[in-house]
Amino acid sequence: MSTTKRAYNFNAGPSALPLEVLEVAQKELLDYQQTGMSIMEMSHRSATFEEVHNSAIARLRKVYSIPENYEVLLLQGGASLQFTMIPMNFLSEGATASYVQTGAWSEKAYKEAKLFGTIKEAASTKAENYKSIPAVADIAYDADDAYVHITSNNTIFGTQWKEFPVTGDVPLVADMSSDILSKPVDVANFGIIYAGAQKNLGPSGVTVVIIRKDLIEKANKNIPTMLKYATHADNNSLYNTPPTFGIYMLGEVLKWVEAQGGLEQVAKNNEEKAALIYDTIDASNGFYYGHAEKEARSLMNITFRVADEELEKKFLAEAKAAGFVGLNGHRSVGGCRASTYNAVPRETCQALADFMVKFQQENA
Ligand SMILES: *Cc1c(COP(=O)(O)O)cnc(C)c1O
Repeated sequence: MSTTKRAYNFNAGPSALPLEVLEVAQKELLDYQQTGMSIMEMSHRSATFEEVHNSAIARLRKVYSIPENYEVLLLQGGASLQFTMIPMNFLSEGATASYVQTGAWSEKAYKEAKLFGTIKEAASTKAENYKSIPAVADIAYDADDAYVHITSNNTIFGTQWKEFPVTGDVPLVADMSSDILSKPVDVANFGIIYAGAQKNLGPSGVTVVIIRKDLIEKANKNIPTMLKYATHADNNSLYNTPPTFGIYMLGEVLKWVEAQGGLEQVAKNNEEKAALIYDTIDASNGFYYGHAEKEARSLMNITFRVADEELEKKFLAEAKAAGFVGLNGHRSVGGCRASTYNAVPRETCQALADFMVKFQQENA
């Protein structure tokens, strides 16, 4: 075990990685399995790297029970490039898609899609500053839409879908950047799931795309090679040089998820961790209050305010001095945000809850 002092890390992304994973990476950094090299220094065509690459993909398939008719792609460009690739591959003149607006990332996806086709708003909670998630029954889309797009967890506003829409023959596309791997998900309900790695999967630089094979076949052909899903599917995500170190880390994070007991157990841990902080907010008699409506609360990003604005500044300053990192809310929302991703230990969440109670006692 490392004796290194680790921060109480609540960063929103890039964010905490499991200590156990970092220790493996540290140990293997100079000499990966007696090759005399780190993963970063070897060819992406070498047998050693291919094994790392293929086992990361196989582990993801296993952890999520991904059906055979889905491809797992490891791409670059972040979730933000998926905002472009999805409409570029699946929309053309006259085509439509429906987007559910639940926050800043949904808006960005929507804006990008408009460059490629007619985009409709399937539902929106913008009018109430994105503190809720629309009811599944209220989502409007058409049978001939190319797809319906949602954001499963709204990193900035701290809301999360608890139940996903079932869109039948219209593929459901989900940006799961900030809650991928945090709980079991029935992949078969989705046409595409995508996520940048830097919240729950590993370091930034890798983007995971889980996509139904028939969609890849149907996609537009006259688009740039690197932006075509088919290019990456046909080449096992090794068309060009992939982010090799990030893929190695993804594989190690997946091993860690398996060692936790899989997604059921990870979900249970996440519920308990978030409850430590939400319960503190709810028990504070309004000293603290949450941004999200209770039913929509995210287990990954806890957004809250200190009722008194001056005290809020003091809270953030004292928390920082006490070793808590990343508690400032996103610049577009303000307030406080604690991101409690998979790798944030329970003790870290308990330490924040204790700090919040103590701060209230001293300042109420
Ligand atoms: C962080 C985040 C993004 C942006 O991801 P990049 O990898 O930086 O492009 C997109 N969507 C959601 C929901 C996010 O949390």
